[in-house]
Amino acid sequence: MEKKIYEELGLVNTREMFKKAVDGGYAIPAYNFNNMEQLQAIMIACAETNSPVIIQVSKGARSYANETLLKHMAKGAVEMVRKDLKSNIPIVLHLDHGDSYELCVSCIESGFSSVMIDGSHLPYDENVALTKKVVEYAHQYDVTVEGELGVLAGIEDDVVAEKSTYTKPEEVIEFVQKTGVDSLAISIGTSHGANKFKPEQCTKNEDGVYIPPALRFDILQEIEEKIPGFPIVLHGSSSVPMEAVKIINENGGALKDSVGIPESQIRKATESAVCKVNIDSDGRLWMTAAIRKHFADSPADFDPRKYLGPAREALIIMYKSKNENVLGSAGKV
Ligand SMILES: [Zn+2]
Repeated sequence: MEKKIYEELGLVNTREMFKKAVDGGYAIPAYNFNNMEQLQAIMIACAETNSPVIIQVSKGARSYANETLLKHMAKGAVEMVRKDLKSNIPIVLHLDHGDSYELCVSCIESGFSSVMIDGSHLPYDENVALTKKVVEYAHQYDVTVEGELGVLAGIEDDVVAEKSTYTKPEEVIEFVQKTGVDSLAISIGTSHGANKFKPEQCTKNEDGVYIPPALRFDILQEIEEKIPGFPIVLHGSSSVPMEAVKIINENGGALKDSVGIPESQIRKATESAVCKVNIDSDGRLWMTAAIRKHFADSPADFDPRKYLGPAREALIIMYKSKNENVLGSAGKV
């Protein structure tokens, strides 16, 4: 084995934390970030709830922040947690939706401890070949790899799909064996973005809130029977809280027909082999809500700390609530 580059940043890979999460019936939060306030909020919330954490960036977020700066942001975040927050929570830096071998190599060289190679849009055999190639490289550096079978609908940075395709349980054993992946992202009805379903796919409750179709727990169960105890990942698992959408729209926003996955469904999923839950949109929504409200209340403010500070506070509250009430990761260090 080559040297573990990620250890220079104070990170760990996902292997041990996933095993504990599968055995313990909870899930590790995987929160996306691309700026300082989001990263601070994730770290503070996870240190204060004593939760292991995966901080993740998409290809787009990595180029938005600048890859050199991003590496040092992650390193600085780990040091802040250890030194200032006096916490020893395990921290993973993960590439979300890697779309090429070269991108995964670049991330591993710059210290990521986990990467996703998303070949889910490719024909099955090409997905297997690409994923296997990334795994062979990554494992030399003890970096863990997430693959994907099945396609999620919705939009997330560079990832766009019109329609979802559920994961076929009959494919998972061979995919896992042939590729050597460490975890598998599956499609059972979650979706990317803040408009996870069209209104006509939903029912409405008495308050006029859209209730989306239930996740396909039957498919999840079939997958678990094929690969018992193997770490499963759920993408697109934001709940899209109507409180945040309301604040945004009451303060000049124009979000229409937003709908997410109810937190009760995610909580149920974490009791299975689902051990990593990706949440991005909820952070975007609460951050936007706090900033819009601040500008509406205090239109004369122009110091970014005045509006990004409250946004950071809103994120801390949300992340803590996810760890404590949805994912069950609080206190699991
Ligand atoms: Zn995703």
